[in-house]
Amino acid sequence: MGIWEYGMFIAGKWVQPTSGATQEILDPATNGTVAHVAAGTREDVQAAVEAARVAFESPDWGDLDPSKRGRLLWLLGQQIRDHFDELARIESVNVGKPIREAKGDIAYVYKLFEYYAGIADKIQGDTIPVPGPRLDYTLREPLGVTAHIAPWNYPLVLASRGVAPALAAGNTVILKPATLTPLTALKLAELAASAGFPPGVLNVLTGSGREVGEALARHPDVDSVTFTGSTDTGRQILQVTSQRIAPVTLELGGKNPQIVLPDAKIDKALRGVLVGAYQNSGQMCWAGSRLIVHADIAGGFLEKLQRHIGAMRLGPGLREDVQMGPLISKDHAANVLAAIEDGIHRGSRILAGGGRPKEPDLQEGNFVQPTLFSEPPAESRVAKEEVFGPVLCSWEFEHVDDAIARANDTPYGLCAGLWTQDVGQAHSIARRLKVGMVSINEFPVTFPQTPFLGWKESGLGQEQGLEAVRFYTRVKNVNVYLD
Ligand code: NAD
Repeated sequence: MGIWEYGMFIAGKWVQPTSGATQEILDPATNGTVAHVAAGTREDVQAAVEAARVAFESPDWGDLDPSKRGRLLWLLGQQIRDHFDELARIESVNVGKPIREAKGDIAYVYKLFEYYAGIADKIQGDTIPVPGPRLDYTLREPLGVTAHIAPWNYPLVLASRGVAPALAAGNTVILKPATLTPLTALKLAELAASAGFPPGVLNVLTGSGREVGEALARHPDVDSVTFTGSTDTGRQILQVTSQRIAPVTLELGGKNPQIVLPDAKIDKALRGVLVGAYQNSGQMCWAGSRLIVHADIAGGFLEKLQRHIGAMRLGPGLREDVQMGPLISKDHAANVLAAIEDGIHRGSRILAGGGRPKEPDLQEGNFVQPTLFSEPPAESRVAKEEVFGPVLCSWEFEHVDDAIARANDTPYGLCAGLWTQDVGQAHSIARRLKVGMVSINEFPVTFPQTPFLGWKESGLGQEQGLEAVRFYTRVKNVNVYLD
């Protein structure tokens, strides 16, 4: 692959940033340059907001038959299918994820567009019975210009999760991908133009969060902000948007428990725990990074985990046999290694991994071994923080109440995994977990049509499903006196 060069996509055209500055995009497996993209500025944000507003008001988009709007989303899904291998390769190289995982991501993206394509012409209001000679009804209208600020771990999936319902509801979009992983979002802009979206309906701005992201969140003519990222940045977005009372969706961090009961199907649970901890090198909001396993089976379960972890093949994502790639950046890998060091220093037992891999061909990249801790103390970073790396902590329990108490003992509340064959027990534990999503006998799992949301410090609002479309519309009540 050569080095990609990208401008930003505003009003249907590729443009250079007003600063003229560019930014290097690196391959995390080698730290070699794979692309140069524009380093956007506040002036570029202004141009994108103006373009998105003009497109929103234009008859080409504003008056478009909703069925035709749905058709455009469907055609974009088709474009994504047609460019499937290319998009998966770009995502794999940019994020460092194994190509098999990147293909799973891209398949999820076209399913998102196809799901919301079918909803575009089914967004409707109600008629409401009121006293007297009156007709009362509601309209559901699009918000206007919607901003979407995405993270780097699932770049195109998490961008599309907001962009697809926003477009289905008739809004225009400004997408700001993460600074480190803008490539598939830029490709999406190109594909949307080929699918026939009018200029200005989907704009993509690249650049830093501090400059471009914050300017978008602050802009008075941006009607909503959809943010996926860390809880700290989410707090800043909430502060900024609260100043102008703009609707906001926040999908934030997690420190998710996986509870394994003694009657669980062990091999299935083992696979779910491994995938939940080490997929995407553990860089997942929904990582099952806290294993809570019953004492009767803990010994054998952890031994099997150790064996599987020891056999995992690390390497660049495009190598077909690779099971785990590098972390996104040198800084992030250093931060994850510091958390591991802190765990060791505080006396937790390491059952697997614990540092950088030794293989000579992995030394240039940001690789960290898949790591397993046993019984880390509550105050250690690995036990309480969202490490966002390939680090799993395990604790044993004897009574279900203790497992639930440990599972809920975190400021986060994104999701939880639960492994048992006892149906009654499963449903009763699911009710007691203080999280937005519970997965029983499968982890992690989500679909475009199911809610994706976090409780507590894991988020605000809900993505996916029909609820997302409600977020991207506002209700207008119309009352008519008939007499
Ligand atoms: P981040 O918060 O650093 O950045 C997310 C996005 O916000 C990026 O596009 C960034 O450029 C932008 N940004 C940064 N500072 C900003 C500011 N002051 N104003 C506006 N925008 C700003 O997060 P990250 O490191 O890219 O992603 C990792 C985090 O995302 C983890 O905490 C993870 O749990 C979370 N995440 C959550 C979900 C979910 O659905 N709940 C999904 C994936 C990732």
